[in-house]
Amino acid sequence: MSVPLQISRKRIKRDIETLAVFTDPNEQGFTRLSFSKEYRDAVDYVAGKMAAEAELEVRIDEIGNLIGRKPGINENLPCLMIGSHLDTVKAGGKYDGIAGVIAGLEIARCLYDQKICLKHPLEIVGFLAEEPSPFGKSTIGSRAMTGKLELETLKKATNQQGKSLYQALKEAGGNPDKLEKVIRKPGSIASYWELHIEQGPVLDQQKIPIGVVSGIAAIVRAEITIVGESNHAGTTPMAQRKDALTAGASLVTAIDSIAREYDRMVITVGEFEIDPNFSNIIPGKVKMGLDLRSLDEDDLASAIQAIQDVTDGIKTNGLGITFNHWRSSPRVVFPREMTITAEKVCKKMNIPYLVFPSGAGHDASYLSEIAPSGMIFIPSKGGLSHCPQEHSDLSDIVKGVEVLSGVIQKLDSELSL
Ligand SMILES: [Zn+2]
Repeated sequence: MSVPLQISRKRIKRDIETLAVFTDPNEQGFTRLSFSKEYRDAVDYVAGKMAAEAELEVRIDEIGNLIGRKPGINENLPCLMIGSHLDTVKAGGKYDGIAGVIAGLEIARCLYDQKICLKHPLEIVGFLAEEPSPFGKSTIGSRAMTGKLELETLKKATNQQGKSLYQALKEAGGNPDKLEKVIRKPGSIASYWELHIEQGPVLDQQKIPIGVVSGIAAIVRAEITIVGESNHAGTTPMAQRKDALTAGASLVTAIDSIAREYDRMVITVGEFEIDPNFSNIIPGKVKMGLDLRSLDEDDLASAIQAIQDVTDGIKTNGLGITFNHWRSSPRVVFPREMTITAEKVCKKMNIPYLVFPSGAGHDASYLSEIAPSGMIFIPSKGGLSHCPQEHSDLSDIVKGVEVLSGVIQKLDSELSL
């Protein structure tokens, strides 16, 4: 039987409030971009607490992931890993990523305080740059750990000042030339878990404290360019126009309708450029950026085909159109044994829960490729996230940590049999 951990509300509150102070003073809300001074301060703070309050062996790996390790009774067993991220988006919130790293830290502290040793080694990880970094890349740390990041990519990615991600990593004390040392092989992690704020309205609306995440939706990005003909707004009769914007506007509406035909599919046209963008010139060109997400591969493929059909229709009206799409993030279905473990823990603790997929990508998207993984969601007030209003109640965070600790202890005994 596993001993319940005495989770400290006080410590969790202190850590979240302290990390909130490490923010760019020139930006709204909470801004802690990877590679910034504020980010380094946050990493130093958590590293300090890992060592001082849980006696973890702390290191920063070659790509810049913060790792705190607690040896297991059987060091030959693969580790159990709890992770998330300490960076934020620009003008973001106080809880995204942070809640998950602090959850891991708190579990390690309780194990230390209560003198509990797990059979497996336990690693608490703060992954580098889960959010889009100034170098245009996201999930850098988790991609590197799972062997999905090439040295060439690091050299090619640059920030606005022209500095490469490779150079920035070197300056930050990393060693990108030794990227292979970061890679964990399948089988080297017994199980990976991540607690995260939901970033959506489901739990808050239904007043349910815990989400057991069934999987993570695949993300497809697309770019559509429509080429018509720029001409004089006063002298070109309506019947003789090749207006790229009117075609683009109807396409946006059509895409929205396509998304609504599927269960749990979301499609967003979040980027739109008009050329030349003057009120007295007929728009000759528009470019739009799309984001498509679903857990169902067949639905995704059929929605992409439906968009293709609409764009083909525009072509017949004498306008040029290109539609390019690419996979931005893999689809993940967490193993049933993992979600069932979390469900059993919730039932035992008498905590209401709901099983549903995540629409947002996470470090777990990559870790799940090499280890049986799972995620626990806690409610986001009003479903708001990536904004200064992002809020999760301390009592919900504590409940999430309780469930996560139950999962880790249960897996520790079950996976070592
Ligand atoms: Zn996050």
